[in-house]
Amino acid sequence: MSKRFTQVKEQLLKERQNLLQDVSNSYEACREIGQDGVPDIGDMSSAAYSRDILFNVSETQRQRINDIDVALTQIEKGEYGVCMSCGEDISPRRMEVRPFSRYCIECKTDIEKFGE
Ligand SMILES: [Zn+2]
Repeated sequence: MSKRFTQVKEQLLKERQNLLQDVSNSYEACREIGQDGVPDIGDMSSAAYSRDILFNVSETQRQRINDIDVALTQIEKGEYGVCMSCGEDISPRRMEVRPFSRYCIECKTDIEKFGE
């Protein structure tokens, strides 16, 4: 495994940790909103609105955690930075810009044009 991927791995693990923290904070916040007394309809809708926002945020975070897990597995297997379609190395520059890329630019373009 190259040193570069060791750094990527550390970064991903750290980000994953932060995301997990954020998600559990969101759940805490949801619970607090949910437990508020419900004095009138105005407050009710604003509480529901906040819950929706928090739910969407944590959805995005869960998706991100999933992406990180996939990348970590790929690093373990030595498949990280390798195109899933043609098996060629994805350009390091592309991996820097989009750390969760699974296809090289050529294949990605084909997939977008013709589907997977
Ligand atoms: Zn490819």
